[in-house]
Amino acid sequence: MDREVIDVVEPRWVLEGAGVRLRRSIGGGRLDYLDPFLLLDHFGSDDPGDYLAGFPMHPHRGIETVTYMLAGEVDHRDTLGNEGTIGPGDVQWMTAGGGIMHEEMPRPRDGHMEGFQLWVNLPAAHKMTPPRYREITAAEIPLLERKDGVGVRVVAGEVDGLVGPVRDIVAEPTYLDVTVPAGVELPQSLPEGENAFVYVFRGSVEQGGDGPHAGLLVFGAGDQVRLRAGEDGARLLLVAGRPLGEPIARYGPFVMTTRDEIEQALRDLRDGTFVWRPEP
Ligand code: MN
Repeated sequence: MDREVIDVVEPRWVLEGAGVRLRRSIGGGRLDYLDPFLLLDHFGSDDPGDYLAGFPMHPHRGIETVTYMLAGEVDHRDTLGNEGTIGPGDVQWMTAGGGIMHEEMPRPRDGHMEGFQLWVNLPAAHKMTPPRYREITAAEIPLLERKDGVGVRVVAGEVDGLVGPVRDIVAEPTYLDVTVPAGVELPQSLPEGENAFVYVFRGSVEQGGDGPHAGLLVFGAGDQVRLRAGEDGARLLLVAGRPLGEPIARYGPFVMTTRDEIEQALRDLRDGTFVWRPEP
């Protein structure tokens, strides 16, 4: 059964970090939570003034973050001792777990910088898990090229036997970067029972004569998505994940299950015990 588009969310401009202008479509606005997805930010600009201030050292707890770059670079370092740069097509996937501090500083390449950050919730039983950091280069992400011109980069999940390199995220998400030529139909099967959305960031799509749509499209129940690209084609992220069905308490970079746990995070930050350390 085809999944119908049940909601279209226009991204809104927000100022985040030390002054980065980005387009947010999940988190804090009309769509605060699409279980298990807590946040979807699309950063991108030709004006370095929009992003050079970056995201200086800041904490996270209770979530996993997936950063996917299209252009430019991000320098990062964290309290696990990781330090490096991710560039176009690379993915950074971080499990904040019980507590991590990190810095994310965008750098332009020819002025342009663009990418996405998705926050995936951790179930209550995993929120205080040891933090973990993984980096995946563009070359490790398989590209599926269909005869009709559709191109799919499989970041996470499986498409036609191609398995994406981002694994072991508790919510088992599918994360695809899909390019669809003008007028071509994109049928994509997705596990039933998972929540799913597409984020159309180039061109537009329509479904059954309804549209054109761009921005964030949320799907209802079913086992496949069927979209047609508009006259300029479309490029989109197609994301799905198993809902956790647990309460959330969120406060900035912390997402826990109860208010008490949020207050604990703030106390830990004040007391200098926030960052997860292995038992001695
Ligand atoms: Mn961060």
